[in-house]
Amino acid sequence: MPAESGSVLLVGVGGQGVVLSSAVAADAARRSGFDVKQSEVHGMSQRGGVVSSHLRYGPLVHSPLIGAGEADAVVALEWNEGVRAIPALRPGGTLIVSLDRIPPPSAFVDRHGGAVAYPAVAPDTLRRTVPDVRAADATSVAAAAGNARAMNSVLLGILSPLLPFPAEAWDGAIAANVPRAALEANRAAFAAGRALRFPAAPAPGTGRPRRRAPAEPPSVGSVDIVDAWCKGEDCAICVRACPEYVLGFEPDARPVRAVRPDACTACMLCEILCPDFAITVRRAAVPAGPSLVAAETT
Ligand code: SF4
Ligand code: SF4
Repeated sequence: MPAESGSVLLVGVGGQGVVLSSAVAADAARRSGFDVKQSEVHGMSQRGGVVSSHLRYGPLVHSPLIGAGEADAVVALEWNEGVRAIPALRPGGTLIVSLDRIPPPSAFVDRHGGAVAYPAVAPDTLRRTVPDVRAADATSVAAAAGNARAMNSVLLGILSPLLPFPAEAWDGAIAANVPRAALEANRAAFAAGRALRFPAAPAPGTGRPRRRAPAEPPSVGSVDIVDAWCKGEDCAICVRACPEYVLGFEPDARPVRAVRPDACTACMLCEILCPDFAITVRRAAVPAGPSLVAAETT
């Protein structure tokens, strides 16, 4: 059995194929002789909500969950979701991101005028934070290969050289998981993604000096946890659902804890999704001043 291990976080929005992509990558890992654990959050995908899938492989994997700073690679099918997933990357990790832009309903600051608050689509700017960014217009690449809807396979193709899975494992996984009618388009899209080349990430200590990181935005929420009601790692729904990676576990695995408390945006997802009513989210007064979202307004 191979000795390497790794973690890949796949993110996107409903309908883009995050779950299928994760299934293909997990199957390729299995065909390469690895133990694999995979977990998904796609409860709101049918409404255009965010979807994420954690994938971990190795000689023996006990938990599928990837904590903050642990992912070797993030594969983002949508630009904003890629930016939001950066805290999951380990130092030196790779961000593979589509230039596709699907503003979520919550990004609309003026529904009548159509204005949205959304991060600038600027791979070069992102490289100041994550040196190894592999950004591609995946939908156009997939369209040129035969079917724009196979953009997720373009991103898997970009991911494939980073993982120790042979080409035949990838091909077998695509054939086993993709519907027959879309198989050849996805094979072509995968090959097109695998053939793409990106600027080399600068070696540590070289490259342009990084600007001082902007101050963390002020917290607008905090979570209260009823320890006795929390089932811990056996559940972990809130950990997987939290878009800001606020929640996690200490080594004793129970109860859940706010491991990045300053990042809480009071979105309420954890409180809504906890089946045991163990979490209460408290909103702090939002300070007056500039928007909390570092964004462009269009
Ligand atoms: S969803 Fe609720 S029960 Fe599950 S880990 Fe989170 S707080 Fe605990
Ligand atoms: S309220 Fe939202 S951001 Fe805060 S911990 Fe819960 S899911 Fe995470």
